[in-house]
Amino acid sequence: MIKKENYTWNNWAGNQSCLSENYFEPETEEQIIEIVRFSEKNKKKIRVVGSGHSFSPIAISNEILISLKNYRKLISVNKDIIVCQGGMYLYELYNIMLLNRLSFPNFGVINKQTVAGAIATGTHGSSLMHKSLSSQIEKLRIITATGDPIEIASETKWKIDDQEFNLWEAASLSLGSFGIVTEVTLKCDPLFYVKSEESVIDFDDFLKSMDDYAKYYEYFKAWWFPHTDKVYLFKAERIEEEQYRKKDQWIKYTEEQKKRDIEIDRLTTPLFIKSNHDPSLIPQINSYCLEYFFTPRTRIGNCFEILVHDETVPMVVSEYGLSMSDNNHKKALKEFRDVLEQSKYKLHFPVDLRYTHAENSYLSPAYKQNTFYIGVCIREYREEKIHPSMQLFFDVMNKYTARPNWGKLSDLSKTASEEKFPGMESFQKLRDTVDPERIFLNAFLENIF
Ligand SMILES: Cc1cc2nc3c(=O)[nH]c(=O)nc-3n(C[C@H](O)[C@H](O)[C@H](O)COP(=O)(O)OP(=O)(O)OC[C@H]3O[C@@H](n4cnc5c(N)ncnc54)[C@H](O)[C@@H]3O)c2cc1C
Repeated sequence: MIKKENYTWNNWAGNQSCLSENYFEPETEEQIIEIVRFSEKNKKKIRVVGSGHSFSPIAISNEILISLKNYRKLISVNKDIIVCQGGMYLYELYNIMLLNRLSFPNFGVINKQTVAGAIATGTHGSSLMHKSLSSQIEKLRIITATGDPIEIASETKWKIDDQEFNLWEAASLSLGSFGIVTEVTLKCDPLFYVKSEESVIDFDDFLKSMDDYAKYYEYFKAWWFPHTDKVYLFKAERIEEEQYRKKDQWIKYTEEQKKRDIEIDRLTTPLFIKSNHDPSLIPQINSYCLEYFFTPRTRIGNCFEILVHDETVPMVVSEYGLSMSDNNHKKALKEFRDVLEQSKYKLHFPVDLRYTHAENSYLSPAYKQNTFYIGVCIREYREEKIHPSMQLFFDVMNKYTARPNWGKLSDLSKTASEEKFPGMESFQKLRDTVDPERIFLNAFLENIF
């Protein structure tokens, strides 16, 4: 097992880092148990890092840090059930799924996270009909603070003070605060094919039609290009395999567009770097990119080809989920547009606009409510300090009681987390039972729990 002392760890975006007293890369479950017992005995805080794709300081630990990069094997594929070790990367899982003609009903945008890391923060895609990746969990094996493994399935119940809880609802999105997830059992769907039609509309027309699109298209999301008043739509739905096989006859996704997709990062990176010194350039950059790269097109592929992408240029991201009742989400989006455009602040494209179906994990932003997400990014920005354009976003989202995505930046406090997440009290009761000495909490989580 690899062990290092005083190890410096950085996240993918480069805005979070820590200096860990002890860092481990265990290869067996026995080694993981040994490290947890060492932490508990010495009253050390312990965190697991996945692939460091969270923008929030959720994974870091100045005491003990574990990476499961050597604990990421496939355990079994049996019909539509896959069992893997917690450290497996999503791109490895997706390759296995493709080989076995399997899929999930929906996917997050990229495939570089680990399986346990992605479910720990409730990584989601966009579909009003589908939930987050956590909803695919059939069973979790977790090494708790005592070093004892527990297995949690959808029907696992616990009684605390005569109150019965469903443990899955807490452990399926646990922010890594229940213990170390060593094995994940996932329920899959058959492989499917998708057609995505992509086009531009005006912001005000988008506000009027957005929910209708989200109800009609199984996979619908949009990118608002701030300071242009335009929105790029991704309207995608399933097609039969036969239609997919004939795709070349009528596909409008030309070679030239493919080349532009590949070129986008190379051509835009210097522009983003420059614009961080001179934000007055941002409206022109957003407008240029929309016109040059985001022309209307139709794409066809299997679900992985259309719904999952390779990584993009470095950026920091914040995302909040809004309730859709009484048009709360539309009011929040409109207010954010108005506040941003009337301010002196500028924001890079895209502002990512997505939907998910209500779900039962206590700490999901979509807990018991269909949810509309607004995500903003600042590209080529690697500072821990919150960018003022992002703070403007937090302020509007807080007015609308929006719930943050735990893997992304927010200014969530303990009081606000209890107000925003109605399942927080139940979650904490269960968490305190599995980790009474609070060894799995870092400063970020101590501030919230
Ligand atoms: C370019 C990019 C695109 C993204 N797209 C999306 C998106 O489409 N939708 C979305 O919702 N999010 C998205 N995210 C956020 C990302 O999916 C989450 O932050 C996810 O948690 C990162 O997974 P990771 O493996 O990198 O985990 P890390 O960021 O390293 O850790 C996240 C959490 O998981 C815990 N953890 C990791 N492994 C274990 C384990 N074995 N046991 C217990 N706890 C564990 C950590 O302790 C930490 O609390 C994106 C991020 C990036 C950088």
